[in-house]
Amino acid sequence: MLDRFDPDVDPTFPPVDPRRLAAALGAVLPPDRLILTTEGMRPYEADALAAYRSLPGAVALPADASEVRAVLRVCRELGVPLVPRGAGTGLSGGALPYPGGVLMSFGKLSRILAIDPVTRTARVQPGVRNLAISEAAQPHGLFYAPDPSSQLACSIGGNVAENAGGVHCLKYGLTVHNILALQVETITGETLHIGSEALDAPGFDLMALMTGSEGLLGVVTEITVRLTPIPAEIRTLLAAFPSTRSAAQAVADIIAGGVTPAGLEMMDGLALRAAEAYAHAGYPLDAEAILICECDGEGADADDETARVAEICRAAGAVQIHQAKDEGERARLWAGRKGAFPAMGRYAPDYYCIDGTIPRRCLPDVLTGIGDLARAHGLAVANVFHAGDGNLHPLILYDAGKPGELATAETLGGAILELCVSVGGTITGEHGVGREKLNQMCVQFTAAELAAFAAIKAAFDPAGLLNPGKNIPSLPRCAEFGGLHVHRGQVMPHADLPRF
Ligand SMILES: Cc1cc2nc3c(=O)[nH]c(=O)nc-3n(C[C@H](O)[C@H](O)[C@H](O)COP(=O)(O)OP(=O)(O)OC[C@H]3O[C@@H](n4cnc5c(N)ncnc54)[C@H](O)[C@@H]3O)c2cc1C
Repeated sequence: MLDRFDPDVDPTFPPVDPRRLAAALGAVLPPDRLILTTEGMRPYEADALAAYRSLPGAVALPADASEVRAVLRVCRELGVPLVPRGAGTGLSGGALPYPGGVLMSFGKLSRILAIDPVTRTARVQPGVRNLAISEAAQPHGLFYAPDPSSQLACSIGGNVAENAGGVHCLKYGLTVHNILALQVETITGETLHIGSEALDAPGFDLMALMTGSEGLLGVVTEITVRLTPIPAEIRTLLAAFPSTRSAAQAVADIIAGGVTPAGLEMMDGLALRAAEAYAHAGYPLDAEAILICECDGEGADADDETARVAEICRAAGAVQIHQAKDEGERARLWAGRKGAFPAMGRYAPDYYCIDGTIPRRCLPDVLTGIGDLARAHGLAVANVFHAGDGNLHPLILYDAGKPGELATAETLGGAILELCVSVGGTITGEHGVGREKLNQMCVQFTAAELAAFAAIKAAFDPAGLLNPGKNIPSLPRCAEFGGLHVHRGQVMPHADLPRF
């Protein structure tokens, strides 16, 4: 599908004469910070959900907050939609351009402005890469904890807009728990300074509102993040189980037992065998599920926690428990986990990655339910996920070359998300709603709740110019959408990055 712009869900704005738009933008940006040719704009026509594409009318590359404000003013005065874009690694079509609108990219706002080891904070521009913050903080013995597996490439502005997660968010929290202050430019022309280094602030929690707002409420131009001391010791444990149910039970028991490991990941039999063949991580091929658990802290603390996790896993039925002996073995265990997504190519030419979250106590039943749904739809599903967070990533394996299989995969994906909602879970853990999950928003929320979202949107953006057609379904009915479709590795941008 080349263009998923759908007038049923996209508000339609009167087209603006492209020459008028170019002239207005040219008056506020130098030529090297404005892209107007079709060829030049091609790289911006999709994010990592490459099934959806559309061309903007212009790409703006502001280099400071005053240029951001100027571009927003142009959009406001001409009534042109604007879509913010970080690194374009989003998996839900959040940075998909509005056809003929302005795409604002933050590639030139990529400076780390200050690192303060005393207050353990960093002040950064939105285009700074996630990993670059930890690299800059490392000499001070600090790191930025939220670690999406796209962290080599994704921007901190995109992380804020998606409330990004990662392996170590179980212990250290999501993006929202690791940012202290934001500078935001609104489409109505105000500069907002949200949050502070103080522990609490009066008034509505605009920081929480802005985090995860997917570019619908304002443009983030500066972020103050919290830095965390690098742990002295790290222990990594692999536990093998005879069934997914017993592994899932161990996850629920670990959390219920009051242990919060730094990371707790699970792979089912299908996933671990593919990953082993791909990465030679040393996984036990006869297991039906494995857990990879990382415990960190001071030496004794990390050891105590690891021993407790091992004991709980054994009680839940683990048939093998192995602790990585050195950094090399630890890296191999993680390499298998990181290689699990591309390894799926051994089983099927295509996979569709679902992203739902459930209460952890429901893991055993929901994994069984996913297996039942997979059988009923006649497609295999591999499970590789952030088990400690209850954040599932079922990978539906299919062949787009076989008539009807893509549609079946999409139907199955929708059924899995509805299963998550039915046990009190959510339709996304970290990939966001974007364009992809508009229809599932109708499953998750009532009309009154969606109306509250729309009212908040209107308070910040009365004309609805910021990232229209995303996140909040604009009609009572939700159209059916596709998802992350990877065909023989061809359509997936950032194929070089590990997938969690
Ligand atoms: C291989 C791979 C692995 C991934 N693993 C993870 C993972 O482990 N955890 C996870 O959470 N995600 C993961 N993702 C998804 C993605 O990397 C995250 O959603 C990330 O936060 C997006 O950042 P970005 O800079 O690429 O943003 P983009 O994709 O460019 O944009 C994402 C959204 O943010 C908005 N936006 C961007 N910048 C701003 C700004 N300055 N102000 C306002 N709005 C803005 C956009 O409009 C859009 O709605 C993965 C993606 C890939 C390709």
